[in-house]
Amino acid sequence: VFGILPFAVYRFVSGQLIVGLVDTVIVLCISGAVLYAWRTGDTRRVGMFLAVLIMLGTTVVASMLGVVGLFWMYSTLLATFFLVNHRLAGIFALVAMLLLVIHGKAFQTTPQVISFVVTALLVSLFAFIFAARTDAMRLQLETLATRDPLTGVDNRRAMEKELQIAVEISKRLHATCGLVMLDLDHFKRINDGHGHDAGDQVLISFASLIQKSIRKVDRLFRFGGEEFVLLLPGTDAAGLREVNSKLLSKIAAELRGPAGPVTSSMGAAVLEPDEDWRSWLARADAALYRAKNSGRNRAIVDGDPDGAIDEP
Ligand code: GH3
Ligand code: MG
Ligand code: MG
Repeated sequence: VFGILPFAVYRFVSGQLIVGLVDTVIVLCISGAVLYAWRTGDTRRVGMFLAVLIMLGTTVVASMLGVVGLFWMYSTLLATFFLVNHRLAGIFALVAMLLLVIHGKAFQTTPQVISFVVTALLVSLFAFIFAARTDAMRLQLETLATRDPLTGVDNRRAMEKELQIAVEISKRLHATCGLVMLDLDHFKRINDGHGHDAGDQVLISFASLIQKSIRKVDRLFRFGGEEFVLLLPGTDAAGLREVNSKLLSKIAAELRGPAGPVTSSMGAAVLEPDEDWRSWLARADAALYRAKNSGRNRAIVDGDPDGAIDEP
């Protein structure tokens, strides 16, 4: 806005009414779009609108002003890669260049055409590569921020977000949803007796065993240390008991540490209407605590009497 506004004024003063008008429309549209994005948070649609607007505006201005207008194309090219995804920005850039070359009024000589096309292509290429790399790095950062590097399952940060979503979906669809908290038994002994690396190996095997034992819609998270959380959409109390006893027998049959079998205790809870994820998780945690206290290597579903325990 601050870059183009003085030119709009200058065009009007020097009698170039149409270019002045185009500049003014661009300035107004940018201001309006920014205001809209500020209010709604919808930067995606506004980015698209602004990219089309400045690309069209610059192409029109360059066709009318010639080389002086062409200079603006470089800032527009860069801005477009900033506003929309790099593939779309690349297409916009090529279309604008093609229009300018076919129309031809922006250039006086053939060397000008060639110089413009080559430099604009280079600027677009660099912007494309830069935007693509930024995108890849953003994805990588997202993975680093949400995945546990040891076991490869999603971490607590991802879990909190997923639990919130699960609560919202369950409310909306009046669907049932189950949660299981798992904690390896006497895990400290493995670390103390056989070293941290041996403990790490058990954590990896445990996560992969659980992951291959659950359904596609179920999600496993590492809550921290040797505690994991299992989110089971569409699962009620009876379903939880079934999952628990299946997991307990799988663990008993397959999970081995350096000193033999390793077991896990589990606490489960079904989401209640109007409950938030923290209280849901707290009930599963309390059930886990009861499972630990009543002897470990077992599962308790919150709300079930203490006698109703799953054992492998
Ligand atoms: P309980 O049956 O009551 O759960 O006993 P526990 O020994 O499993 O419980 P506690 O919470 O006292 O010990 C958990 C241990 O897990 C302590 C900590 O050193 C270890 N731990 C936490 N994170 C890691 C990890 O990433 N790798 C390894 N090897 N150990 C970890
Ligand atoms: Mg623990
Ligand atoms: Mg433990």
